[in-house]
Amino acid sequence: MTRHYDYLAIGAGSGGIASANRAAIRGAKAAVIEAKAVGGTCVNVGCVPKKVMWYGAHIAEALKYSEAYGFDVQQKGFDWSTLVRNREAYIERIHGGYQRGFASNGVEYIEGFARFVDSNTVEVNGEHITADHITIAVGGRPLIPTCEGAEYGIDSDGFFALEQRPNKAVVVGAGYIAVEIAGVLHALGSDSHLLVRGDRPLRYFDQDITDALLERLKQDGPELHTHTVVAKVEKDAQGLLTVHTESGEVIDGVDCLIWAIGREPATDSINLAAAGVTADANGFIRTDKYQNTNVKGIYAVGDITGEAQLTPVAIKAGRLLAERLFNPELPDAHMDYSQIPTIVFSHPPIGTVGLSEEEAKAQYGATNVKVYRSQFAAMYNAITPHRALSTFKLVCTGDDEKVVGIHGIGEGMDEVLQGFAVAMKMGATKADFDATVALHPTSAEEFVTLR
Ligand code: NDP
Repeated sequence: MTRHYDYLAIGAGSGGIASANRAAIRGAKAAVIEAKAVGGTCVNVGCVPKKVMWYGAHIAEALKYSEAYGFDVQQKGFDWSTLVRNREAYIERIHGGYQRGFASNGVEYIEGFARFVDSNTVEVNGEHITADHITIAVGGRPLIPTCEGAEYGIDSDGFFALEQRPNKAVVVGAGYIAVEIAGVLHALGSDSHLLVRGDRPLRYFDQDITDALLERLKQDGPELHTHTVVAKVEKDAQGLLTVHTESGEVIDGVDCLIWAIGREPATDSINLAAAGVTADANGFIRTDKYQNTNVKGIYAVGDITGEAQLTPVAIKAGRLLAERLFNPELPDAHMDYSQIPTIVFSHPPIGTVGLSEEEAKAQYGATNVKVYRSQFAAMYNAITPHRALSTFKLVCTGDDEKVVGIHGIGEGMDEVLQGFAVAMKMGATKADFDATVALHPTSAEEFVTLR
């Protein structure tokens, strides 16, 4: 007998899990299918292990400057494998939490790889499963370039599988992942090199912020190589790599090369054609604002849609989809993709929401944009020899100086941004920021005292 569900999510990552749970909570008979580990990219090879590594890096940095706070600490060593073991044990606990969530919500968890048979049937482990509503939430995977010797490198999944700290690492790419991994490796003691093909990493971010990042990279590392494209990679008898760049630079003695040049959608094997679902030229499944694909009853959420590839976006989109389908009180529920805040866990972190100064000027005209910025030494650094500056910035438009962009790089920015993102979403103006009493002494207070 064919199993039948009201709602079926393909992929138990952030979007699939959130949507299936919410569907079940709203009374639907729901299931989620996963071929790998529950939790998808975020939990297993993304946000979660990355943030643990970033905290490790944070402790390394705190130790480095602890003397200024009066500590006489002798660091006897750093054991990568302890950090990895504790990280993986934590991930195991998260897996358990997901399974308990499924059990209490009544979601069925099906292990296996799903392929479409038709628009309301998938085949898993030889069994046909049908559903009224099917959501494709299969996420993406890292891209690897095609240059000679590219296979000697690993990707971000490989980074999380490393059992030892690399001695000398080359990270290629200019996005979130490259910046985060190169920074973590550097802080944890690897000789870390970040290779970008342009003049800076994160070039779509506000320029003041990336200028500040460039300054911090110059001061603190990792070593940034700009205008650098890898031409070929060689491996010697000891397993060490030599990276040759198109400009003739040679980086040798490399025991870890990491490609972080972007991610591609993972739709190629799920037999989209059988369901009639179309993907764009890059394989992303584009949807309307309700997460509908071109086929009635089939939806897509998360990284596979090519929209902001962020866990909280997938979760929100998935939950709102389930509300729309199964909660008669919310027939119009859908995700608002505007003003999505994000953090890059660099050193220090970068936070951003809304328009960069450059985007605001392009959209509203230069004369209609007013920018407020502050560069300051966070108190945390001020008493150490590490006199690094933070940069915080507001981008405003119109006579009422509506805040359309909030950007910052500095200690604590990862925790500062969320509340300010609420204010911006509510339409706050510069005057609203000014009318708010500062929290002292914090870095966050800079945002309400900008002149
Ligand atoms: P991104 O797409 O963000 O960045 C990859 C960058 O690498 C490109 O923008 C490009 O920058 C550069 N690049 C592309 N091709 C090449 C090439 N052949 N050689 C050298 N450089 C190249 O990808 P990521 O993999 O870093 O991240 C994927 C997504 O995951 C992100 O967009 C983000 O949404 C999400 N993410 C979020 C995190 C967070 O919230 N903290 C953390 C990690 C990932 P350029 O054109 O400037 O060279």
